[in-house]
Amino acid sequence: MARVFNFSAGPAALPEDVLKQAQAEMLDWQGSGMSVMEMSHRGKEFMSIAAEAEADVRELMAIPDNYKVLFLQGGASSQFAMIPMNLIGKTGKADYFRTGSWSKKAIAEAKRFGDVAVTADREIDGKFTTVPAADGFEVSADAAYLHYTPNETIEGVEFPYVPETGDVPLVADMSSTILSRPVDVSKFGLIYAGAQKNIGPAGLTIVIVRDDLVGDPLPGTPAMFTYRTHADAESMYNTPPTYGWYLAGLVFKWLKAQGGLAGMAAINQRKAESLYRAIDESAFYNNPVDPACRSWMNVPFTLANAELDAEFLKLAGEAGLKTLKGHRSVGGMRASIYNAMPEAGVATLIDFMREFERTKA
Ligand SMILES: *Cc1c(COP(=O)(O)O)cnc(C)c1O
Repeated sequence: MARVFNFSAGPAALPEDVLKQAQAEMLDWQGSGMSVMEMSHRGKEFMSIAAEAEADVRELMAIPDNYKVLFLQGGASSQFAMIPMNLIGKTGKADYFRTGSWSKKAIAEAKRFGDVAVTADREIDGKFTTVPAADGFEVSADAAYLHYTPNETIEGVEFPYVPETGDVPLVADMSSTILSRPVDVSKFGLIYAGAQKNIGPAGLTIVIVRDDLVGDPLPGTPAMFTYRTHADAESMYNTPPTYGWYLAGLVFKWLKAQGGLAGMAAINQRKAESLYRAIDESAFYNNPVDPACRSWMNVPFTLANAELDAEFLKLAGEAGLKTLKGHRSVGGMRASIYNAMPEAGVATLIDFMREFERTKA
């Protein structure tokens, strides 16, 4: 068996140790005689798996007690709707930052439910390569919340700071950056993330929501789209994504073994810095993003000669470096280097890039 270095933006690589443990427990989870996939979500075995996963993510992220952690389905894209459905009713208005493809989608969805003010728009000549300065935006006094995307997965643009929003609750789509470094959860009203980048398999969505924001859905909001429903039922109102929840729990244990989020951040910073350095030192590769807000997780880069893209991808694939093709809207390459990408994977990519430049450029 040969595992490759998988640079997919999502669903993305999982830690090999986690996959091995899941494999070992596949047929018989800890003497239960059944797979986690086959268990009742209300049985004591799964309840213990669920509770332990929640306790571990609370510990990893130091989530204060006045926040609920919800294990939902529907992906981050469902949250684009659930957030306004549950939060916008207070004033009918919300602020949104527009910093890339995912925040654009969040804005489009929110507009169905109320007045959206785009208080920072960083599209320049059709491209997103920067974020607003920390003091470069207004917060509307009557906004029910301010939504932003800390890491734009497609453009590779990441906020180097957490926006200061005063009394206006801050809502963050952390799909591609959650668990990559420590964050002060108390600065946020709500954090959400689809699991398939940095948490576990697709199908699980995590929402971390402050108690006072669980409350007031718009009239007509279906039960399944109401945070209160899931908060009151501890995410067991209907059948939760049990296997994804279990795998997320294994990932949380793995993260604790890496030294928690501080340990992970040090590794992630090394990976990102070495890759950006290799790009910047070369005249052949280019990353268009403002160096102050380059993503630690998603590194887009272009080749000086786009006619070599196909050959780059082919030879990279032969070298065990997979899924490097960039998003169609940006072109070129994108290396997603989430938590599960080992440092050796990034080092192998850099060696390959240098060799490719030497022989082809
Ligand atoms: C991948 C991604 C999404 C979409 O997630 P789904 O779970 O597929 O709905 C939304 N926002 C960001 C920042 C993402 O990276």
